[in-house]
Amino acid sequence: MSRSADRKAVSGMSDKSFEERTPPGKLNERLRKEFGDGATAAERSGSIVLEGVVPTWAGRIAAGYACAGQGYRGVVNDLEVPGVPADVLSPPPVSDGVLDGLSFDVAIVGGGVVGCAIARELARWQLSVVLLEKEYDVAVHTSSRNDGMVHDGFAAKPGTKKAAYNVRGNRMWEPLCRDLGIEFSRPGSLVLFRGSASAAAYPLMAARAKENGVDGWEYWSRKRVMAEEPNATHDQHGAFYLPSAGILSPYKATVALAENAAANGVRFVFDACVLGMELESGRIAMLRTNRGTFRAGVVVNAAGNWADVVAGMAGDRFFSLHQRRGSDLVLDSVTGATQRHIMSMPSLFQVREKTKGGGLVKTNEGNILVGPTAREQPGREDYSTAPEEMRELERHLRVNAKLSMSQVITYFTGVRPCTYDEDFVIERSARVANLVHAAGIQSPGLASAPAIAADVAAMAVDVLAASMRVRPRADWRPLRVPTPELKRLPLEERAALIARNPSYGRVVCRCEEVSEGEIRDALGSILPVTSLDAVKRRTRAGMGRCHGGFCTPRVLEIVADAAGTTPCRVLKKGPGSYVCAGETKRRMAVVVDHAEGVTA
Ligand SMILES: Cc1cc2nc3c(=O)[nH]c(=O)nc-3n(C[C@H](O)[C@H](O)[C@H](O)COP(=O)(O)OP(=O)(O)OC[C@H]3O[C@@H](n4cnc5c(N)ncnc54)[C@H](O)[C@@H]3O)c2cc1C
Repeated sequence: MSRSADRKAVSGMSDKSFEERTPPGKLNERLRKEFGDGATAAERSGSIVLEGVVPTWAGRIAAGYACAGQGYRGVVNDLEVPGVPADVLSPPPVSDGVLDGLSFDVAIVGGGVVGCAIARELARWQLSVVLLEKEYDVAVHTSSRNDGMVHDGFAAKPGTKKAAYNVRGNRMWEPLCRDLGIEFSRPGSLVLFRGSASAAAYPLMAARAKENGVDGWEYWSRKRVMAEEPNATHDQHGAFYLPSAGILSPYKATVALAENAAANGVRFVFDACVLGMELESGRIAMLRTNRGTFRAGVVVNAAGNWADVVAGMAGDRFFSLHQRRGSDLVLDSVTGATQRHIMSMPSLFQVREKTKGGGLVKTNEGNILVGPTAREQPGREDYSTAPEEMRELERHLRVNAKLSMSQVITYFTGVRPCTYDEDFVIERSARVANLVHAAGIQSPGLASAPAIAADVAAMAVDVLAASMRVRPRADWRPLRVPTPELKRLPLEERAALIARNPSYGRVVCRCEEVSEGEIRDALGSILPVTSLDAVKRRTRAGMGRCHGGFCTPRVLEIVADAAGTTPCRVLKKGPGSYVCAGETKRRMAVVVDHAEGVTA
């Protein structure tokens, strides 16, 4: 097989340049054969646009893929499926006009890891920057619903933006985490071979890693795997070892990026949903939000699963996103002691799939994440979990002989925003002079975020430099001073802290060993922290084995005390999500279980 044929077999996609693109007539013939008369394709402004009605969601996705890699700028899939309503962007119930009449050099739409990393990069410059997030905090969506793996870059298709940004981002995270004061580890990843046929694929895997510029890889024999990972399945035939794979906490990283950006002058506006844009002479002149209308010199689209909708507000929807859900099991933190590396054992056919196949990811906190799954399903923010997806994950447990389903403490789902070309969209808009896209950031988006941010910030600065002098800030402070995490401190340091501030000695979350002092530190952060989930994202209070059963009432009291309010006014997450329904005669709070209704 030739090298390019090889590549196509691995990715399952064809690549054509703009010059050799497939004419729409040919695409329509293909669509008719596969989908009948329901779907039609037409070229619009360099993209291929699909319209019509197809009977199933799976058919809609397949039609989108049929038009990908055919030499167009992107695939816009407007096919309808009977009974599946289109997602509608709904703003939070806040309208106070705080943004009315303001003007910023840069407006970033989206407070996920990508938007927050871009904000931190832009803070290096003497610019007024605002980040708008429609939720009550950063990292509410995909950036807190992932595996936290800083991928090595082997799995991305060679030649794609994903491959290049992944490898660059992987090198950037370690020093960045040092600056941000958050934990980063590099345990490396072991891709175990299921049989001799899989092991024979090693030269191909090594060639791909080399082509992507991955830092270091090795073949490990079965014996070496057993020596390094005594609990690994005996059913393996050696492994492909990638030492550069790393781990971090995705929500802590996003919070830390945002805090450092805020400390350097970036303004964060939460509960602010961008709803529309007004254009003048090919530029975005005004952004309309539920919290007011304002001007911006450059707009950065980092809106995750809504990035195609945001692009459409500026008349630049040249791609569309489809949602690929991924669910994970979370195992008790005691399981972390049973393995050292990230481990997976994909099937031979996995290399043809559009996802990496999942595995066992040991977090820095000791929990092992099992997953993720990959399923095309409508719903940009549908985080429901399905029993069959959980059962599907059970197969990964056999990779580590010490794991079982009885160790599962919870599970979660995240949604990947995918383009049909399966690549990131990181570019200055071709149509709108002051718009930069950081869109289609599915996996490995977390690993790539620092590199994406560096390039997107440079693009934004370039746009501004045409009309103003953009100078670096002499007082830019890259270092974030982290608040103490007592659980990780040596005993003497803990004792000294408690002697200075006794609230560090009052443990509130027993599972995660989080003290009152740490919760109060989170509440005093530079970003507004007003809800239980925002506290959880910063301290992990409520993330342990009992899942907040024990500590929730106490955290509630501390949040209420810090805000000078009653527990009944405290929110679980966004506006209206009150935790308590009222008070009993003895002034006890009646707690609302958000899944089940009101409980005592
Ligand atoms: C199950 C799963 C596992 C994964 N594992 C990994 C992994 O191990 N390693 C890795 O590198 N990647 C992983 N990924 C991918 C990674 O999580 C994403 O690429 C990354 O989090 C995307 O970040 P983002 O900032 O682009 O998007 P998001 O985190 O979704 O942020 C976008 C934000 O924009 C806001 N927004 C949207 N529209 C508007 C609007 N109109 N106005 C205001 N705000 C708006 C949203 O509310 C949201 O908060 C995984 C993904 C999933 C689903």
